[in-house]
Amino acid sequence: MGTIESLEPKAIWSNFHLLTQVPRPSGHMEKITNFLVEFGKKLGLESYVDAAGNVVIKKSATSGYENKKTIILQAHMDMVPQKEAGIKHDFEKDPIDAYVDGDWVTARGTTLGADDGLGVAAIMAVLENDKIMHGPLVALITRDEETGMYGAFGIKEGMLEGDILLNLDSESEGELFIGCAGGTDVNVSLNYKEDATPDGLKALKVTLSGLHGGHSGMEICEGYANANKLMVRFLFEAISHYHARLASWEGGNMRNAIPRDADAVVLVPVSDIESLKTLVKDSEALYNAEYEVTEKNNIKFVAEEVDAPTVLVPTEIHDSIVNAIYAVQDGVLRYIPTIPSTVETSSNLAIVKVANGEVDVKFLVRSSDDTMKDFLNKSIGACFSLAGMKVSFTGSYSGWKPNVESPILNAMTKSYEEQFGTEPKISVIHAGLECGVIGAVVPGLDMISFGPTLRSPHTPNEGALVASVPRFWDFLVSTLKNTPEK
Ligand SMILES: [Zn+2]
Repeated sequence: MGTIESLEPKAIWSNFHLLTQVPRPSGHMEKITNFLVEFGKKLGLESYVDAAGNVVIKKSATSGYENKKTIILQAHMDMVPQKEAGIKHDFEKDPIDAYVDGDWVTARGTTLGADDGLGVAAIMAVLENDKIMHGPLVALITRDEETGMYGAFGIKEGMLEGDILLNLDSESEGELFIGCAGGTDVNVSLNYKEDATPDGLKALKVTLSGLHGGHSGMEICEGYANANKLMVRFLFEAISHYHARLASWEGGNMRNAIPRDADAVVLVPVSDIESLKTLVKDSEALYNAEYEVTEKNNIKFVAEEVDAPTVLVPTEIHDSIVNAIYAVQDGVLRYIPTIPSTVETSSNLAIVKVANGEVDVKFLVRSSDDTMKDFLNKSIGACFSLAGMKVSFTGSYSGWKPNVESPILNAMTKSYEEQFGTEPKISVIHAGLECGVIGAVVPGLDMISFGPTLRSPHTPNEGALVASVPRFWDFLVSTLKNTPEK
């Protein structure tokens, strides 16, 4: 078992070792910021902290490479602080204990910080090396990516100049990312005056559970059921055929998770209660049949009699709620026309809350295409406006629309094939990356994200595949050498 500094390429691993000695959990950027600025200054390079708290280091072109396009080399300086149960580790003070474990570099008891420490180490290796051929370089090392991309969001128009951005924060060597999704939080609300519960009604609480759920971006195309959509189908039938009245509904709890459970309280005439229980059973069987492949018969839908609440939702309001939620788009709206089987635009009907005179519905809309995102936002808005509800849009950020004709993509694909004899995989991620945020304020920026192969980032099992690092480094070096000219 060797030390990580003995691994190849030493240029990366020696710098990564230095980074493991500098505390840098998200939210505590002082030490790592100073370390990086000092690193740049010691090399005699222009080095500073920008207005957003990011470190910027500039290096001029190698002689003969002055006409190349300017490359922004980007990585994030923070790491996710996770440790195993029972481990004593203060991420604000203690170094990371990285070691070689077979094919992987990992850390004793904690996250390794290869996400994105290997990206930062590669940038340091380029900055300190005077044998690598490259055009004008700007190193951009962002702060607090993991908790909300704050460093990237802080970059305003005019703060950053360059033609090409190489983001070194991907986790699968041999894969080039050329796009990512932006997002918008869509919020629906309504206040209503509750009706007193009429006599002669019995209450049933119906509960859906056991759904797979999943990440609302990365897993939106996997065909999992949405608990709120299953619930609305039941409620629609219950209202249409069994005179049901809605008292309350609660489904989902996180905007970026496909909802796994939902419950509702409905009231029906005593004569309908057994039929309604049968509808619950039949619905459970129907949903399990429809989603047999993805939900694997795990969907549970149960009814229990409960005390009747004293108030309920007026019928015209429950009709509006149920119709709008039934009608609204959920899931994949469109795949990327130029890249097969890759989601472009989607919505997640994440949270429904109906209780105490208030309706709250929350969506997360994602798209790599900003105008398609706007279209879907407005579609959802129109649906709920028809139902007389208020709609607002918050937390919107840009996507990164893939360009399969991109000059840097062409140059990198060619150079990868020459070097390794295989084509790189070209991918678009249906979730947010810093590229989307930065690209939105630097017009015309040509971007690619790539990196070495990592395992289980954000967990104490995080590892970096040793064999992927020389390939990542060689590819980075050849990419700098083969940068297109202006
Ligand atoms: Zn990262």
